Amino acid sequence: MAHISEAAHQCRLELGRKVSDILESALACEPAGGTSPQWLYTLNGLQVEPLDQSVRYDEAKKAGQEKGAPVCEVEKCLQTLIDNLKLQAPVVVEELTPFLERIVPRHREQYLALASISPKPKAGPSGGMFAFALATAEKKSKEQEYQGSTYVLRCPGCGGPRMSDADLSCEYCGEGKTTS
Ligand SMILES: [Zn+2]
Repeated sequence: MAHISEAAHQCRLELGRKVSDILESALACEPAGGTSPQWLYTLNGLQVEPLDQSVRYDEAKKAGQEKGAPVCEVEKCLQTLIDNLKLQAPVVVEELTPFLERIVPRHREQYLALASISPKPKAGPSGGMFAFALATAEKKSKEQEYQGSTYVLRCPGCGGPRMSDADLSCEYCGEGKTTS
């Protein structure tokens, strides 16, 4: 993995951001099995059919989720990302094969772990929802720090998802990677 082409590197960076976006917008859905305009937009962009209203809540419960869109939708989105890449950039895909093969299983597992944590009550400031919305943009990164374990941790270098706080290296941009 030490010497990959520039095209493959760029591709990994882009994938990292997309995977983070998928995980984050899926996790923000409440209650478990729910959806949101942002999540529907994500599904639509990847042409993934949302689960029917009549089964999505049961599916999420069965998977042990306390929040978030059903894990099978998330899995389909991740798989679609990879499938699209195979069509668009077959040469890069060949170069990145072992890396790409890990993406769906590991982030499926990561998502399930995060989605099985009960959502914390939102502690908005006294200004109510409007003030909260205004403050959200600048507070977001801090909140993610505080609630670290319930949100997707992003690599500060590329925005790709990290598996845990202890995970010092980034698979997507290679930051923090020690030479072995
Ligand atoms: Zn990174």
